[in-house]
Amino acid sequence: MQIVRTAAELRAARAALAGRVGFVPTMGALHAGHARLMEVAKKKADHLIVSIFVNPTQFGPNEDFTKYPRTEEADLALCEATGADIVFLPKATEIYRAEPLIRLAVDPKIAGVLCGAHRPGHFDGVAQVVAILFNLVRPHSACFGEKDYQQLAVLRRLADDLHFGIDIIPVPTVREPDGLALSSRNRYLSPEERAAAPAIYRAMLQCKSRADQIRFDRIAQPVAKVEEEGRALILKEIPGAQIDYFEIRHTDTLEPTQFIMNKSRLFAAVRVGTTRLIDNLLLGG
Ligand code: AMP
Repeated sequence: MQIVRTAAELRAARAALAGRVGFVPTMGALHAGHARLMEVAKKKADHLIVSIFVNPTQFGPNEDFTKYPRTEEADLALCEATGADIVFLPKATEIYRAEPLIRLAVDPKIAGVLCGAHRPGHFDGVAQVVAILFNLVRPHSACFGEKDYQQLAVLRRLADDLHFGIDIIPVPTVREPDGLALSSRNRYLSPEERAAAPAIYRAMLQCKSRADQIRFDRIAQPVAKVEEEGRALILKEIPGAQIDYFEIRHTDTLEPTQFIMNKSRLFAAVRVGTTRLIDNLLLGG
């Protein structure tokens, strides 16, 4: 496994790879969710490139950029174990020009809802860094987690709109045995918060079984009622939880729908103490 830290080193290492290249961009603090992405990427390509970069432009001024966990040694061990060929660990100055002329702006129809409504500019920053990484790495395919479903939706469109010709591969969310979605931010949770957090997934499953029942009974049920029941369960089971959103939307367009349908997906963002957790689940299908 080659560890490279500059764009020039990456280019040289990349040029030496023959065959198909799979790519997994990450912000480090790697866990079994990232490992799953790497396994899938590796299976679908001849070589695997992983990037580890805590991208400053996707954090808001009051967010956790400076305290975001940085665990380089353990991350490299996991990349090695998963069979990565190249790990790219750039500094921000390797990625961004001092005075960039070009800034990507994602349509607010997608970037202004859900997480985008609570994190202004977040998806512009994500699109910018992934476009630059795509140009540096030049992969044939790239894996992204369904855990960050809105991000996946933005990046699918990025790859298509800018004609990258990169196959975007979605990977299902990896969860703890109690249902909590794995996240680098879970380590911020106190033991009490960690014990309470799986209530988010329980509330989502409750909504899914309500939705299944509704579809089975063929009753046109407004989403608002199902959402309300899920929110109530979270507020009951997680002391002091703050719900940023708990909403059912169309899985492709992310637009709100009035009734539950096959393409309904539930999206949740909940603050447990100071930690913001996100998750989502397909209700139909
Ligand atoms: P991050 O390091 O959090 O920016 O995530 C890097 C990639 O890993 C993104 O494509 C995420 O969607 C994905 N990812 C994060 N957590 C999980 C998870 N629990 N299951 C599957 N993929 C995940």
